Amino acid sequence: MINNMERQKINYDFTKMKGIFQRPEELNNFALERMEKVAYLLRDKEKYHCPADCNDCCYGSILMSYTEFTLIMLYLQHNWTREETAALFRERVGLLQNDESLLCPFLQEEAGARHCRIYPARPLICRVFGTTASPCKKPVTPSPLNDELFYQAYNLFYYGSGRFIALDIDRKWSVYEAPFAFWCLADDSEESRSFLRSFIEEKGDSFRAVLYDQEAKMFFYYSKGHKEIIST
Ligand code: SF4
Ligand code: SF4
Repeated sequence: MINNMERQKINYDFTKMKGIFQRPEELNNFALERMEKVAYLLRDKEKYHCPADCNDCCYGSILMSYTEFTLIMLYLQHNWTREETAALFRERVGLLQNDESLLCPFLQEEAGARHCRIYPARPLICRVFGTTASPCKKPVTPSPLNDELFYQAYNLFYYGSGRFIALDIDRKWSVYEAPFAFWCLADDSEESRSFLRSFIEEKGDSFRAVLYDQEAKMFFYYSKGHKEIIST
């Protein structure tokens, strides 16, 4: 399955991104502080009973907040070598699966088994599957992470100073939830943001994301080239 997907990739050279690791220290500290709170909230609740060889949850565009994206970038800086990170951007960021949605770049194969390469820093949504907040259809006993706790944790990552945390792509659109590759493009240079914008407008059938249109004053869910208004 992975081999088939490797034939498709978004037509953008992710290896040339320069500013991608230069996030403000204030934001890094905010993300680390929020991660501590989330870890405390979920303590003893993240117990999974999934079969060791199942990673069905990891296919498709895994959405995350800017805070969670920041945490992943910090994790890569502190735990991966430069070569590993370069290979990630060269070979895996921007990979598409058969339905043209983005594949999570961190599901990687080692010693014949697929597993998460950023497990301690994985997004919140990845901690929900296989729990009572989102039981899967497989015959597993869900762990006791319920909806209420999930939304408390979600609020910690998604809100700061009473506001939704977002990143402006340009004067018109802001990003609230997006897959890893989408954040990379939104967070680097004017060129990558401009690519992202044209990708969404002209060719965009590969991203799912939650965006805000500042002119129309509405949140919309973007998927397969369509915009579905969530709220105004
Ligand atoms: S971040 Fe890890 S757990 Fe989450 S979808 Fe990717 S590989 Fe799976
Ligand atoms: S939650 Fe279900 S689909 Fe996901 S890894 Fe566990 S058993 Fe597999």
